[in-house]
Amino acid sequence: MDGLPQRGRRTARFLCSVFLPLTLLGHPALADWHYRDESLMGTVIQIEVWHEDAALADAGIEAVLAEMRRIDAGMSTYRDDSELSRINAAAADQAVPISDELGGLIARALAFSRLTGGAFDVTYASVGYLYDFRQGIRPDDDALEQGLPGVDYRHVVLDAEQGTIRYRRQGVRIDLGGIAKGYAVERGAEILRSSGIAHARISAGGDTRLLGDRRGRPWLVGVRHPRDRERIVAQLPLVNEAISTSGDYERYFEADGVRYHHIIDPGTGESASEVRSVSIIGLDATLTDALSTGVFVLGVERGVELVNSLPDIEAVIVDADGNLRFSSGLERQH
Ligand code: AMP
Ligand code: MG
Repeated sequence: MDGLPQRGRRTARFLCSVFLPLTLLGHPALADWHYRDESLMGTVIQIEVWHEDAALADAGIEAVLAEMRRIDAGMSTYRDDSELSRINAAAADQAVPISDELGGLIARALAFSRLTGGAFDVTYASVGYLYDFRQGIRPDDDALEQGLPGVDYRHVVLDAEQGTIRYRRQGVRIDLGGIAKGYAVERGAEILRSSGIAHARISAGGDTRLLGDRRGRPWLVGVRHPRDRERIVAQLPLVNEAISTSGDYERYFEADGVRYHHIIDPGTGESASEVRSVSIIGLDATLTDALSTGVFVLGVERGVELVNSLPDIEAVIVDADGNLRFSSGLERQH
């Protein structure tokens, strides 16, 4: 199974604590905990680090933020000068040189496309760019029909030996919005670990990577209610793991009674509508990020089936009617 880590068994235990107030999840102000947040990558980054040495903790937090700024500068499609934007502009005409890092992440993204049967597909952007969720703009049927043939991960040709990328046809665009934040928090965790920090939480919007435990107790991560930000529907005690949530409430607008949101079904070019949120728990945030988006598109039945077939991965899904669904490892525990 490519793209997946093969590490030890998950140790997390699941507690189903329905509708706990969010206030229970606040940060206790302990002397050796250091906390920063910053707006980056189109979301809020939160970093919480435990270390007796305040200078080391602060340097670690600064290094993580610098890494995230670097990743954003190379991989954002909101910047015309990013490496990815330059590739999108030219790769349909000719093979374009690509850095090992970006090529490696796109290779993993393609592996997740194969794993999810194309539900996760970074070329969704071939129609995805036609939406503007802030301004309430969506493509009409003609524009969708024109853009849709560009959506297919098999249009992307990576040549690892030559270090190039090429698109097989015009109109193909890649966007890494469904995987880059997970990658960034995973990189952040590696930086903290190598600087001697063993207990930390790094979040980028819906993607969270935990290092170690919360000093003797598991980290408690809440899955928010998709229609009420003041409530959570489940609480997960996690140690040394990642959790990513994809929700139809993050970026959306409503028109004619339809919710248009940012997770696009590559088959139709329209917002996926089978579920309201998907949380994936696993050992690697790049994986949980991509899978939360992919399982969202797959929907409950196919999504749970996929998660149950993978080692060390669990899912909490809120379906279209607001019901909670769990993968088999969590079903046994609550
Ligand atoms: P997430 O919140 O991790 O589910 O990421 C949502 C983001 O993923 C969107 O804002 C898009 O940038 C991107 N995206 C949307 N649909 C897909 C898809 N089918 N496959 C891969 N990425 C997607
Ligand atoms: Mg994701």
